Amino acid sequence: MRFDQLQLAEPILRAVAEEGYETATPIQEQAIPHVLKGRDVLGSAQTGTGKTAAFALPILHRLAAKPRGSKPTLPRALVLCPTRELATQISDAFRTYGSQLPLRTAVIFGGVRQGPQVGKLKRGVDVIIATPGRLMDLMNQGYVDLSNIEVLVLDESDRMLDMGFINDIRKIVAHVPQQRQTLLFSATMAREIRKLADALLRKPVVVQITPDEPTVDRVEQCVYYVDRKNKQLLLSELVGQLAMTRAIVFTRTKHGADKVVRQLRKTGINADAIHGNKSQNARQRSLDNFKADRVPVLVATDIASRGIDVDGVTHVVNYDITHEPETYVHRIGRTARAGAAGIAISFCDRDEVSNLRAIERLLGERIAVNEDHPPYPDGNSGAPAAPKGRAPHPLDAARGNGGNGGGAGKAANRNQRSRGRRRGPGFGRSGNFKKNRPARTKD
Ligand code: AMP
Repeated sequence: MRFDQLQLAEPILRAVAEEGYETATPIQEQAIPHVLKGRDVLGSAQTGTGKTAAFALPILHRLAAKPRGSKPTLPRALVLCPTRELATQISDAFRTYGSQLPLRTAVIFGGVRQGPQVGKLKRGVDVIIATPGRLMDLMNQGYVDLSNIEVLVLDESDRMLDMGFINDIRKIVAHVPQQRQTLLFSATMAREIRKLADALLRKPVVVQITPDEPTVDRVEQCVYYVDRKNKQLLLSELVGQLAMTRAIVFTRTKHGADKVVRQLRKTGINADAIHGNKSQNARQRSLDNFKADRVPVLVATDIASRGIDVDGVTHVVNYDITHEPETYVHRIGRTARAGAAGIAISFCDRDEVSNLRAIERLLGERIAVNEDHPPYPDGNSGAPAAPKGRAPHPLDAARGNGGNGGGAGKAANRNQRSRGRRRGPGFGRSGNFKKNRPARTKD
């Protein structure tokens, strides 16, 4: 469906056209008409489906169509979301789509000085995009008045509940008028989400997006079985071999993320970490450098990664295999955004095999195995033994020799490229990825 068939105001259509969007995505097509009519919406959609515009465009339309009332400085729409990055991105989206409308937006999150945020609120805003913690904080200090809110959005609600925001959400919602429109989005529809939806929404239209080709199906996935101690070296090698020009590497811990960055830098690969211990400014700087192609590898923990919306991510590397299968889907959804294809690589140590199997059960299929890094033999006897006297090199099998295993980094990557015999994701046309892909298993 074309955007001009969606009854959106002309200035919004112009802004959308400037962004280069031609047709609405399925969630936009399904949600926008209902939001325009003022209905509550319960939306279940994966990341990367265009859901931000699905709520931002009709909200902007409704706000622009109705003049500010007797309290012109008070916000009329409130969007709650789990992380600072996502808040920034949603606010960017509102500013972009509303660039030709006289509406004011404020983004509110912790980890930065509150002064500028308070200043903005005092001057008057139409839309607030906020993480629950800082918003509560400012409300308690008397800086936020939600008595004029007409539209409330809860985005990535499953993640907000995971992060323990439920009490903050309840308290915030208690300050929002009951007479309002509520839109709730979540990647999953677990019992807790349904409970929250029952409490907050009135006769919602349910929009469930199961696209013909969900994001995960557009991602070439592959697992490398590799001992934990060899993961670092394998990563350094693959960055060059697979031409990872814009890769996100996921680690389980903040400490782990910092360590991976240090090691990558030692091998001459420019990398930055993004996690909860970094200041908001440092996180934004890393993200900007990544988007501007100054840093090809971003190493992230899951919480910090929520909402990282960068087009053209070539690879996602699961350096640690998450024990939450849904998180795997979110991680790999960072590539293959906005209809593009992508590559996801997982490094699986022997004690992560059960996590991998849980992911495969959720996907309903086995993930292809890189032929040079086959599964651990039964009985956990481990990968093929390395010759005595030196550390095993993760690429020995690929090299077909007992080489000295050293020299990761640019030089080694060049050597490795010239060998040209690696297989795995990224070798689409010449490699045998598809052929290797096991048949779908429903276990
Ligand atoms: P989201 O799911 O909201 O995080 O959006 C994912 C990406 O899709 C963002 O980079 C948007 O800019 C982009 N996008 C949203 N709607 C459209 C559309 N109708 N056509 C093309 N790209 C879109």
